[in-house]
Formats: sequence, structure tokens, C-alpha cells
Amino acid sequence: MSLMDYYQPSESHQCPRCGNPLSNWQGKDASNGLFVWAQGIPAPIDQLVDDDITLEIELRDKRRLPPEFTIYSYSCPEHQPVEAFCECQDGVWVRTEIRPAR
Ligand SMILES: [Zn+2]
Repeated sequence: MSLMDYYQPSESHQCPRCGNPLSNWQGKDASNGLFVWAQGIPAPIDQLVDDDITLEIELRDKRRLPPEFTIYSYSCPEHQPVEAFCECQDGVWVRTEIRPAR
């Protein structure tokens, strides 16, 4: 089940090449337990797995993101994946910067 996590930036972002909205983000730099991370919140807000293998809430609340990580969006069919560089301060995701198109 260790594949990736889902990410929810606090602002909406667009494809740097065509302006398509980028709504879905994923990454492999953190727990990779199908957690859902929201920008501005230290611990995962959800875990998208079956109930019988969900991490206990007390343990989930102790999870944190790394100081820097990269996320990917496959929302633009033409230019996927779009990369975004993210930074944490004191364990909280505070910055999301879309990487310029290659
Ligand atoms: Zn695009």
C-alpha cells in the first residue's frame, strides 16, 4: 500500500504552459501511506485506505512532512506531470512554487 500521498495546496495553481487548472496533486517524499496533506496543517487530514488498515488517529497526528518536498499534478493532459516545490516551516507546509516548464 506504500505508494504515495495526496496533497492539497492552499491556493489553486495553473499549468505554467497552458493555464489549465491543476486540481490533483500527489507526491512520494513523505509517508507514502495514501495520506492527504493540506497546506497549513501539520498532520495528515485523511488517509484514503480501507478502514481496517487505517493508521490510528493518534499515530497519524504525529506524522509530519519533510522540510522540503516535491509534488506532481497530472491534471493537465497536455503537460503532465507539472512539478511544484514545497517548503515547510516548523513542520507545517507553508509554500508551494510551481516549477517552470522545461
Ligand atoms: Zn498545460
